[in-house]
Amino acid sequence: AKVTRFGPSPTGFVHIGGIYTATIDQDVARHSGGRYLVRVEDTDQSREVEGAVEQFERGFSYFRLAADEDITRGGDYGPYQQSAREEIYLSYVRHLLREGRAYIDFATKDELASITSRQQATKLPTGYYGSWALWRDAEPADVQAKLDAGEPWVVRFRAPDDTGARVRFTDAIRGTIEAEANRNDVVILKSSEQSPRLPTYHFAHAVDDHLMRVNLVIRGDEWISSVPVHQQLFDALGFEPITYAHIAPLMKQEGGSKRKLSKRKDPEASVDFYIEAGYPADAVLYYLRGLANGRLAELPLEQALAEPIRLEECGVAGPLVDLVKLDDLAADHIATLSGQDILDAVRAWAGQFDPELLAVLDAEPELALRALAVEREGAENPRKDLKRWGEFRAVYGFFFPQLHAAVTGPDDERIAALGVAPEVVRAVAADFVANYRQLDDGQEWFQQIRDVAAKHGFARNAKEFKKDPDAFPGSIREASQIIRLAITGSTRSPDLHSITQALGQEETLRRFAALTA
Ligand code: GLU
Repeated sequence: AKVTRFGPSPTGFVHIGGIYTATIDQDVARHSGGRYLVRVEDTDQSREVEGAVEQFERGFSYFRLAADEDITRGGDYGPYQQSAREEIYLSYVRHLLREGRAYIDFATKDELASITSRQQATKLPTGYYGSWALWRDAEPADVQAKLDAGEPWVVRFRAPDDTGARVRFTDAIRGTIEAEANRNDVVILKSSEQSPRLPTYHFAHAVDDHLMRVNLVIRGDEWISSVPVHQQLFDALGFEPITYAHIAPLMKQEGGSKRKLSKRKDPEASVDFYIEAGYPADAVLYYLRGLANGRLAELPLEQALAEPIRLEECGVAGPLVDLVKLDDLAADHIATLSGQDILDAVRAWAGQFDPELLAVLDAEPELALRALAVEREGAENPRKDLKRWGEFRAVYGFFFPQLHAAVTGPDDERIAALGVAPEVVRAVAADFVANYRQLDDGQEWFQQIRDVAAKHGFARNAKEFKKDPDAFPGSIREASQIIRLAITGSTRSPDLHSITQALGQEETLRRFAALTA
C-alpha cells in the first residue's frame, strides 16, 4: 500500500499543477489501498498569505481531492501543518548536533558571497563545503560565545566528505538515475525574525515524510537535483530511504516553443481560473489524467476516472495544457449529462459567482429544465452549447423572462441587423401574433411562419430570393429570423418550435410586445 502526500505552501495561489500532482497522489494511494495525506508546508512565513489555507481547500474540494489525513480531518500522525511541528524538528536537529552530523553556523551574507566569488575566480565548484565552511569545525567555546552575544545563526547539515562520489537512486517515473553525491552543507534550520527556528524544506520533508509513514513522494521535478542531499539526510537521521517520483511540469505552447505554465503570465495556471469559469471538475480531471497517462485520454470519461494512473507511464517531458482541447472535452462531457445534473451544477456555480442567476433558477426550476431539454435529452446529437457552467447565462438566459431583456439588447439594432425593412418586420410580427397557436407538431407549427411569410410576399426559399432579390422583402429564412429574433433576442438559437414549447404560449407572445406595439 502506498502512502502519498501533497505539500502545498500557503502562498495564496493554487497552481493547476498542484491539482495535477495531488490527483496522482490520491489515485496512486487509492488504487494501492493506501493513504493520501495533505500537509501544509508553511515554514516560509514571509511568503504566507492570509486566507491561503481556505483558498487551497476551495480548490481541493472542487476537484474532490480531500485527503485521508489533513489539517481539518486530522489523523494519527499530525499535526499536518509544519509550523505546528517546531518541537519535532528541533528534537531531530538536536540529535544531529549531538552526533556531529550538523553544526551551528554564523557565516554572514558577505562572507558567503566572498566564498562564492573566490570559488568562481579559481573555477572551483561553488558551495559551502569542506574547508570553505567557516564554522564546520569551530571550537565549542567560540560557538557558545557567538550564541551568548546573540549573533544570528543557522544550523547546517554536515555533508559526508566523499568528494567526487557518485550516487544512484531509482525514480518511480524515470528509473535509475546517477548523480554526483552532495557535498554542500545545506541549511536545515534557520532563525530569522519572521521564522524563529523553522526548518528548511530539505529537512522538514525528511522528518515529516518519515514520521507520517509516507513511502512514496510524488513531487515536481525541480526537486530531482536535491535527491542526493535528501538521501544523506535520511541516512544521517537513521530513516529508511523513501521512493521518489518526479513529475514533469505542465507546459504551455508559446509560439514555436514550450515553457512551464506560469503563475505570473498564464491565467490558466491558477485553479481559480477553472472554478470561476465553471469548468466541470470531471472534465478537468479527465483532461489532467489524460496528460499524466496518454492511455487514459483514449478512454471514455467515466472509465478514465476509474482506471489507475500508472507512474511508469507518466512522461519525462512536461505535457502541454491546451485549453481548446479542454473546452472540447468539457462540451462533450456536458452533452452527456441530464438537464437536472446540469441545472444542479449551474446552481452550485451561480451560488458562488452569480447570485442573480441563482435566484432566477430557484424561481423557475421547471423552465430551466425545459430549456435544458431542448435538443438534449433523448436527442440523437445532444447540443454542445456549454463548456462551462459560467456560460449558462449567455446561452440559456433568453429563456427566462427575468434575464431575457438583459441578454437581447435594443430592438432597433437587432432589427436593423436582419436586413429587412423595419415596417415589414413589424407587420410580419403582428400577423404572426394575431394568428398564433402553440402547436405540438413542429411541422404544423412552422406552417404558421410559412403562411405569414407568403402573405407578406417573402420568397419560398433562398434560391428563389437570390434569383430576383428586388422582387421580395426576403426569403422564408429572413421571415423565420424575424420570429426567432423576437422570441430569443438572437438570430442564432436552437430549434424555434422547441423553444416555444419550453416558454409556453403566453411568454412566447409576450416577446412580441415591443415589435407589435
Ligand atoms: N511545499 C513544497 C513545494 O511547494 C512541496 C514539495 C514536495 O511535494 O515535496 O514545492
